[in-house]
Amino acid sequence: MPQRNLKIAIQKSGRLSDSSIQLLKKCDIGFDNGHGKLRSRAYNFPLEILFLRDDDIPQHVEDGVVDCGIVGENTLIEGNANVATIDRLGFGKCRLSIALPRGQEYEAATQLSGKRIATSYPQMLRKFLNENNVDADIHTISGSAEIAPSIGLADAICDLVSSGNTLFTNGLKEVETVLESEAVLISRNNVSSAVKSVLDSLSVRIRAVNAARENKYILLNAPNDRLTEIEKLLPGIKSPTVMPLAESGWSSVHSVIGIDDHWKIVEGLKAAGAEGILVISIDQMIR
Ligand code: ATP
Ligand code: ZN
Repeated sequence: MPQRNLKIAIQKSGRLSDSSIQLLKKCDIGFDNGHGKLRSRAYNFPLEILFLRDDDIPQHVEDGVVDCGIVGENTLIEGNANVATIDRLGFGKCRLSIALPRGQEYEAATQLSGKRIATSYPQMLRKFLNENNVDADIHTISGSAEIAPSIGLADAICDLVSSGNTLFTNGLKEVETVLESEAVLISRNNVSSAVKSVLDSLSVRIRAVNAARENKYILLNAPNDRLTEIEKLLPGIKSPTVMPLAESGWSSVHSVIGIDDHWKIVEGLKAAGAEGILVISIDQMIR
């Protein structure tokens, strides 16, 4: 089957731009992303990258201007585009939350009835309010919702939050989560088989990069009389690799461990008699 260039749209400049570029580069896709570029052709993979505003990406994917794209789930849901989500990408994590001035007591969503809520996400907010039987007045704005209460434009806001610092400095507190969001890879629903074959190759690479990010490779030396105990601490992909060292009575043990608990495992290994423990980052991991 002849390969044709896959067209992908990523955010031109904003919170998802760097991570989107890094993800493609970690997939060993080389391209020039010089300042101000609107499009770029990869030199070692059949991919053309278009740099666009994030809000436009879902619609362009649906219309076939591009074959796929990287956007926040919040943008995808708000835009209501008819596209397929292929992979969750693990970056751009944030939540769409309702926040009130800090001094106000808050117990339940019903308290929002009759309030004016400023947001750039009217669709999702409307859905949340309907589900909670709240009749509030949605005030749609295009950005900087956090200042709306202090200038008397609204009683509450519904905006994206990650650390909560912006809310804090504006005297606001989060009271409800409307959506948990992260960046996703989306594609058109019915792509040709030529496009699908490149998209599948890209998706395999992306999954390999994401799996690698969640794991570490660990090597250590173990006294043979402690091997059983040490092996129990190391699940590996199937099971740990154990090889004899040149020095008799010792073995080299290799395994893959999750990053969430890797320090706990390392401490356990040391306590069990392991020596020379090396923990190494993995570039790509294909299960
Ligand atoms: P554009 O110019 O492309 O329209 P934008 O101003 O709409 O950019 P950004 O602020 O760059 O968008 O955010 C892009 C995406 O990053 C958001 O839609 C969201 O998915 C994600 N994101 C992660 N953390 C946050 C955060 N704390 N605040 C806002 N967005 C966040
Ligand atoms: Zn935007």
